[in-house]
Amino acid sequence: MKKTIIFCLTISFLCFTNQPLSAQKTPKNVIFLIGDGMGIAQVYAGMVANGNKLALERCTYSGFSKTYSSSNFTTDSGAGGTALACGVKTKNGMIGMNSDSVAVVSILEEAEKNSLATGIVVACAVTHATPATYIAHQVNRDMYDEIAADYLKTDIDVFIGGGRKYFEQRADGRNLTEELKAKNYQIAYNIADVKAVKTGKLAGLLYEDQNPGMPDRGTMLPDATVAAIDILEHNTKGFFLMVEGSQIDWACHDNNAGQEIKEMLDFDETIGRVLDYAKKTGNTLVIITADHETGGMTILNGKFGSDDMKTVFTSKGHSGVPVPVFAYGPGAENFSGFMENTSFKGKIEKLLKLKK
Ligand code: MG
Ligand code: ZN
Repeated sequence: MKKTIIFCLTISFLCFTNQPLSAQKTPKNVIFLIGDGMGIAQVYAGMVANGNKLALERCTYSGFSKTYSSSNFTTDSGAGGTALACGVKTKNGMIGMNSDSVAVVSILEEAEKNSLATGIVVACAVTHATPATYIAHQVNRDMYDEIAADYLKTDIDVFIGGGRKYFEQRADGRNLTEELKAKNYQIAYNIADVKAVKTGKLAGLLYEDQNPGMPDRGTMLPDATVAAIDILEHNTKGFFLMVEGSQIDWACHDNNAGQEIKEMLDFDETIGRVLDYAKKTGNTLVIITADHETGGMTILNGKFGSDDMKTVFTSKGHSGVPVPVFAYGPGAENFSGFMENTSFKGKIEKLLKLKK
């Protein structure tokens, strides 16, 4: 009897102290996928064109993220990415800094400090705003040379995208590729070389500047994502990987629904491969969201299985509406309902049990 009471008290104590997050099972790895500019119409356009189905429907929890920045009702990708990566609202255009221009540690940097493996895979230059917010700290997103140099200040294990010229043809004369080699990075200039790397550190600088759009990019994004996971999963402590479907945003700035669908389906192919891995291993939390919506897109009519649909864009820029969140795997239940875009970092830190 006495033992039972003590047992019950202990359980109650454990239940009511410092347990703000639900976690029946905690993840070892987190893969965070950002569809730049991906509102619900962008998702649905892809789903309709794809015959009323997407891989991301396999996610078991969903919600909405509020995207406003500290300076603007409607965010840009600098402030939007900084909120997702670093957990703070900041001014539009800023990279990994708060509103007072003070550097803020990103979730990727926290993971690295805790000896997890880390990676970035994007369908744009690795120096572009969204990937930059996970690794760089600069007052302006256009400082590509400075952002490239910030990669050298970290020990990120794998990064793959475009932007080679910001590493090799720089105003300051530094050759960052040579500096990366000195830090034991393997350098890949094409996807075949990326796939050949199975272990160690990898810098994949696949394009001179920005990656081409779909269909010219082929299966670069899903292939590079799988290649990154193959390397990162060697770390026995786990890994954090950020993947960006970068050009959904660009298609929507152009108000080009056909191109948006191609980019969305490429991103969804990538999501499918990530969900396959998460299902197989059972220890990987997958979170999918956007930094903001682009184009104020809506769909007035369509036909399942066809990309011929009646779409309307209300803007050439971003809109202020909340964006969807999808989650799968251990801890996914913490990503439902309405949330601030600043809430992801803290939740992931707790779920991965990262120490500051
Ligand atoms: Mg972006
Ligand atoms: Zn944009």
